[in-house]
Amino acid sequence: MRSFARYHILRVLREHSIADETWHGISQRLPLLLPLSATERARLRELVTLFLHQKDFTGVQGLAIDDEIRITIAAQACLEILELGLDAFAGWVEIVVYPGAFQVAHETLDDAGVVHQQDSALSGESWSRGPVILSWQDVQQDSFNLHPGHNVVLHEFAHKLDMLNQRANGMPPLHPDMSIRDWTNALSQAYENLQRRLEHHKATINAYAATSPAEFFAVICEYFFTAPEILWQHCPDVYRQLQAWFKQDPLARKQLN
Ligand code: ZN
Repeated sequence: MRSFARYHILRVLREHSIADETWHGISQRLPLLLPLSATERARLRELVTLFLHQKDFTGVQGLAIDDEIRITIAAQACLEILELGLDAFAGWVEIVVYPGAFQVAHETLDDAGVVHQQDSALSGESWSRGPVILSWQDVQQDSFNLHPGHNVVLHEFAHKLDMLNQRANGMPPLHPDMSIRDWTNALSQAYENLQRRLEHHKATINAYAATSPAEFFAVICEYFFTAPEILWQHCPDVYRQLQAWFKQDPLARKQLN
């Protein structure tokens, strides 16, 4: 790493460190982090410190942003980039938090750079080069109890990773040692398979994944971290692609700890 960049990071970690009591008090309430090793926890805490320094949280409709909100969101978002680094969340700064589900006026989708759920009341939304928007009520529901296959923070920040190449198309920029063909084959087969099963009301994972390739990617990321055994059981090839991309193996981690 360039020396000035490294110097800057060390200075931020020193001057903006999260108090032990605050970090432990909040991170220990997040079941998603339980399987992490001590080394992984330490790395996550550093990433969260840098993340909080780089990103701006804005509370709306009277919501006051506090440490619990900031760390609950940051810790789970940073779990996704534990082995990728903070550059994976580059190009945008704002996280907007509503007290509860929020209404949206626009109803366009992805290629224009906006991704959102089809409901009029949303739990989360992610804009290309714009903010991540979250409902704190939904974040709390998904964060302090583990819901297999469901976590709005993982979902919205997965859209950010997908949009690293400016398009929400279910394929983030792959690492040099990965194959576009293998990625496309694994994900498109699983996507088509899910759509076929839905026609017979036999979904293997959350049916929302069948909405579009972008939503498919966001939903399989939710499974990868919250219920890796389900993703592995139904779509082992997809699991392997995510394992290569995130450089993490949540299933092995869960079985170890
Ligand atoms: Zn989505």
